[in-house]
Amino acid sequence: MGQQAGAQDQLFYSFSLETHIPSDHILRSIDRFLHLGALRHHLSSFYSHTGRPSIDPELMIRMLIIGYCFGIRSERRLCQEVHLNLAYRWFCRLNLDDAVPEHSTFSKNRHGRFRASATFRWLFDEVVRSCMAAGLVKGEGFAVDASVVAADASRQRGVPSSQAVDWKDPRLSTAEVESAKTMIDRVEERFQITPERLIGDTAYGTAAMLAWMVDHKGIEPHVPVWERWQRNDDTLPSSEFRWSEQADEYRCPQGHPLRREWRAFKNPRTHITKADTIIYRSSQSDCGTCPLKERCCPKTPTRKIVRSIHEAARDVARRIRMTMQYQRSRCQRKKVEMLFAHLKRILKLDRLRLRGLTGATDEFTLAAAVQNLRRLAKLIPQGPAAPA
Ligand code: SF4
Repeated sequence: MGQQAGAQDQLFYSFSLETHIPSDHILRSIDRFLHLGALRHHLSSFYSHTGRPSIDPELMIRMLIIGYCFGIRSERRLCQEVHLNLAYRWFCRLNLDDAVPEHSTFSKNRHGRFRASATFRWLFDEVVRSCMAAGLVKGEGFAVDASVVAADASRQRGVPSSQAVDWKDPRLSTAEVESAKTMIDRVEERFQITPERLIGDTAYGTAAMLAWMVDHKGIEPHVPVWERWQRNDDTLPSSEFRWSEQADEYRCPQGHPLRREWRAFKNPRTHITKADTIIYRSSQSDCGTCPLKERCCPKTPTRKIVRSIHEAARDVARRIRMTMQYQRSRCQRKKVEMLFAHLKRILKLDRLRLRGLTGATDEFTLAAAVQNLRRLAKLIPQGPAAPA
């Protein structure tokens, strides 16, 4: 039974941080892809030329990357961890006796110049460029999804809702859909990449979104069509009715037409409803004597079919759904769900710490940049050395 000797009384040490960080440590791999050389230039107009010397912004960014990389959400704890952990010190370019910034410094910079200068967005874009340079991003297909993350809000101060909200209703996914549009436009503007296909769930299958993809952007929609007007009883489905673009009418299984109007109006009407649909109706005289009446429209004198003004785009999505590529896209969509799960469970982003929309944007942008860095480090562990 041995006994530890020595009283830690050595006065001088020969110590190099570089030799104590394992070559396969994740921070070493991340460091190879992290190019912060242009950060000072990006922030130069946000620093004063007078006053006390400030903390190096690169040091704060490196510390924040550590925090998001290892799920250290508290800035106070992050400062303690960087103070104690050799690998963290090495990554932050700190020597053993260098002082670690105060936790309050982060708040000041996060809510001040980092936010005003969109530094986290700049960092995110830089990381995406590194991914592109490493050949991991081509941009031929985008997959989008959304996840619920708790805000830093107090239940006790909440205001009770006057009516229950069905969060699964795709109509409530408007913000989610608009975010996807913003992301696609932003990627196009910053990286000159437009995806060939967009992969998503039913929330992205609304008629307006499909029309935006197909008609406006030329993107293949690999999303299920949201069949809002689909019948759930045993009556004949709309798919049994043949559409004729030329005649602008449907033909029922009995060969009779369903039209948007059955008489000529003095002032021509579009018949487009507020929901951007046109209702096609059969003739009462046709249906009255029809042997299929009980299966077609048992409770109404005529049959009606609601057609979106974006039906052509919806048809494109329906055709894509029959392809093998769509099956592959479904599997690829699962990867986005996995990323959300990783973000929430491993990187501990199941609840936001910063408040407000700008706080949430800051947190997600930084977390996504770090997630991409981790991915780069994992997929290319021996990556290119960062320029000095
Ligand atoms: S009930 Fe009317 S719309 Fe339906 S199949 Fe018969 S004729 Fe056609």
